[in-house]
Amino acid sequence: MGNIKKPRGTIDIFPDEMGFFRRIESTARDTAELYGFGEIRTPTFEELALFKRGVGEVTDVVQKEMYTFEDKEGRTFALRPEGTASVVRAIIENGKTSDAMPLKYYYLINCFRYEKPQAGRSREFFQFGTEMFGAKDASADATVISLADMIIRRLGIKNVKLHINSIGCPECRPIYRQALTDYFKSHEGELCDTCKERLNTNPLRILDCKNPECAKIAKDAPNTVDYLCDECKEHFETLKEYLKAQNTEYEVDTRIVRGLDYYTKTVFEFICEGIGAQSTVCGGGRYDGLMEQLGGPSLPGIGFAMGITRLILAMKESDSLPYDMKNPTLYIASMGKEATAKALEIVLSLRNRGIYAECDICARSLKAQMKYADKIGASYTLILGDNELATGKAQLKNMYNSTQKEIDINGIYEALSNEPMML
Ligand code: ATP
Ligand code: MG
Repeated sequence: MGNIKKPRGTIDIFPDEMGFFRRIESTARDTAELYGFGEIRTPTFEELALFKRGVGEVTDVVQKEMYTFEDKEGRTFALRPEGTASVVRAIIENGKTSDAMPLKYYYLINCFRYEKPQAGRSREFFQFGTEMFGAKDASADATVISLADMIIRRLGIKNVKLHINSIGCPECRPIYRQALTDYFKSHEGELCDTCKERLNTNPLRILDCKNPECAKIAKDAPNTVDYLCDECKEHFETLKEYLKAQNTEYEVDTRIVRGLDYYTKTVFEFICEGIGAQSTVCGGGRYDGLMEQLGGPSLPGIGFAMGITRLILAMKESDSLPYDMKNPTLYIASMGKEATAKALEIVLSLRNRGIYAECDICARSLKAQMKYADKIGASYTLILGDNELATGKAQLKNMYNSTQKEIDINGIYEALSNEPMML
């Protein structure tokens, strides 16, 4: 008899790789908490009925990918394939719907899907996810998207693009669905077998079929955004304005429909180039009908989930390091008592705002101070002397590429906020 091996599509994680998991987990936790989300944990398995109702009977996840089992008393359970349905169940079951709105939770969990294992796709995988309930305004969508964006940036992942789309609501989606069905019906003969079936069950899924023939036909299919009702259109336009206002770069991608049934209005994905075919590192959107569908009150919801192993692939592709970098964002070098007093004041105000900053506390020479700044890996440095105190201006130096920028001594926090390495 040969040696026993781990189940197909699972991973063993040793300390080297664990460094990446830990950096992602701590970055995700810290960032989510900056946005006021609290950690939640729910059971690894749930009644199968929860996912059937929550994820959708005709989704690939429920139809093909579930790990289900019967317990000793004949009840049917499933290992969770995702986190949202469980969180909604937990909110309802624990009466959290009477808490102050919006409810904001995040989780770090393992999920299980019976899929064909490949790079970025496994049978047990790990997700960081967030859920927000009770906020229907587009500003909530913009906030949740900015949280995902900040986590990705803080992990040092480059080559990522945010794709957004709106897939409408129960009022306008049926009209779109009909238009889509009519279009695909006229090409039925050219579709793959799975898509022929999807034509009757879930035509939106044809849009992201990987089969090249289907993809070619899908290219000219009607777009969701052309079928939105006034309310959905207004919501989508407002979201775009808010994203612009907060400097979140995006592109509208009418092919994004998302795999799970419960989405309404906004859907989005962060797509990373260079990590292979499974390039969606984060997927999310709005699900205004889900809470009610699972027996709770009508509460709008929005959230996202990130695949941790895909984030690791993306970090490696960006030469990002596996551990949390504990180096300061800013080091202030100072000359003279007055400048040191100012440096202490600035450093404290930055620390109060959660930014790791340092200044000279050894009364060293300027040269020695700069050497020290380099040694501790400060991202930025600033020199304060008589001249700077007199003019109120100083040079903020980017230690990575040695560029300098004149900034207001009293506006350092604001100046840093717009700097790429601050995060
Ligand atoms: P995909 O396009 O990969 O099939 P999905 O639409 O099934 O994604 P979601 O259910 O929205 O994905 O899950 C959110 C995120 O979880 C995905 O964007 C991806 O990063 C990750 N993910 C999903 N399935 C897997 C898997 N089998 N293995 C690894 N990561 C996964
Ligand atoms: Mg999938």
